[in-house]
Amino acid sequence: MTTLFISDLHLDAERPHITELFGRFLDAEARDAEALYILGDLFEAWIGDDDPSDTATFVADRLRDLADAGTPVWFMHGNRDFLVGQDFAGRAGMTILPDPTVIQLYGKPVLLMHGDTLCTDDVAYQQFRAQTRNPAWQAQFLSQPLAARIAFAKQAREASQAHQSGLASEGTMDTITDVAPAAVAAAFQQFGVDTLIHGHTHRPAVHVREVDGRPRERVVLGDWYEQGSVLRVDRQGHRLDTLA
Ligand code: MN
Repeated sequence: MTTLFISDLHLDAERPHITELFGRFLDAEARDAEALYILGDLFEAWIGDDDPSDTATFVADRLRDLADAGTPVWFMHGNRDFLVGQDFAGRAGMTILPDPTVIQLYGKPVLLMHGDTLCTDDVAYQQFRAQTRNPAWQAQFLSQPLAARIAFAKQAREASQAHQSGLASEGTMDTITDVAPAAVAAAFQQFGVDTLIHGHTHRPAVHVREVDGRPRERVVLGDWYEQGSVLRVDRQGHRLDTLA
């Protein structure tokens, strides 16, 4: 049996072929899996569980079918879909995991994160994150009418694009939007694990570095902008593959 890890699908109405690819993945490979972990940014944006988008409905129905067929689905929030709530999770038959979470995977503890908390050099983003993860901010935001929330999400997206192009013109994009090595080392030390799986940076790779004299493995999941990306883990080991 295989356990599957994906992240950063960024599903939205603008890239229907990726939503379809995800649907095929859920109906085929995921049916035979022991579990499916979605480590954040399943959606490009999320403004509340009451948003009646076709993409959200499609995803909820397919995930629910998968869960009903016997594959448990675990979901961790990303920086785009941190407002996915218990209502949507219930419709999709998935369980929300806190970020970070340590799971037991074939006898080994493995740390799971979305990955944005490791990007500590991006101070402006970390401030935005602290503000928007505050329960009081979220309650106030979700109490606004749908149209106001849609307008805010559009504005936040434009601000994020401006921030990214600012970093690009400064030449700091590559370092600031990647994980900070010190934050990675601190996570390994804090949780005492040898394996970390995360997404967010859209830089799929398997990195092995020593921390405190022990080799630690960091698996970075890929995004689904042009194609799919999946980490398959079983008792023998793991493979990070693309899906088309
Ligand atoms: Mn992300």
